[in-house]
Amino acid sequence: MNRILIAEDEPRIAAFIEKGLRSHGFTTSIAKDAQSTMDMSFNSGFDLLILDLGLPGKDGLEILEELRGQGERLPVIILTARDDIQDKVAGFEAGADDYLTKPFRFEELLVRVKARLRNSTVSQPQEEMVLKFGNMTLDLRSRKVKLGRETIELPAREFTLAETFFRHPGQVLSREQLLDRVWGYDYDPGSNIVDVYVGYLRKKLGSNSIETVRGMGYRFRG
Ligand code: CA
Repeated sequence: MNRILIAEDEPRIAAFIEKGLRSHGFTTSIAKDAQSTMDMSFNSGFDLLILDLGLPGKDGLEILEELRGQGERLPVIILTARDDIQDKVAGFEAGADDYLTKPFRFEELLVRVKARLRNSTVSQPQEEMVLKFGNMTLDLRSRKVKLGRETIELPAREFTLAETFFRHPGQVLSREQLLDRVWGYDYDPGSNIVDVYVGYLRKKLGSNSIETVRGMGYRFRG
């Protein structure tokens, strides 16, 4: 049975959600303020948190950031009266899995609760650990590239560059994009470091593996 934590300080809303969820077979608990939400969320065995943003003690977004900052992956649906697009973006950036605005219909909340619970049971871990393109595979766990049957070890930067290509197969990536993803913003855009490292990768993965697209950048061809 699924256990759902409802963080909501308005008793009428909390009772409304609780009643609806219980009638659909869920077990529920209510947290009425920020502190109890924090206390009850960590390693608590809940399967989902429905989080109001306006909670006494601390803003719901801060609660969410703290939870995620400490590695708590409990699925979170924000349920709030704040309906600005900026608020939604902030909610997702803080680590929410879904965002529903008040006033809401219980049916809509229920659909989202069910979808969230389905996702979290089926597809964890969500990150794919092996990327494939052509006859090459890149293993994010062992940090090795396989070319057919041959295994190739790459130093850290080359691996990150290869990973960037694997994540965008067949797409033209500009030098700036590659610089940004692999070396970070603070690199001189006039630097030829990208070209140098593409050269290293070509030596290891094959001279045709990465195509130069004149005036635009590079394309991974596998
Ligand atoms: Ca509230």
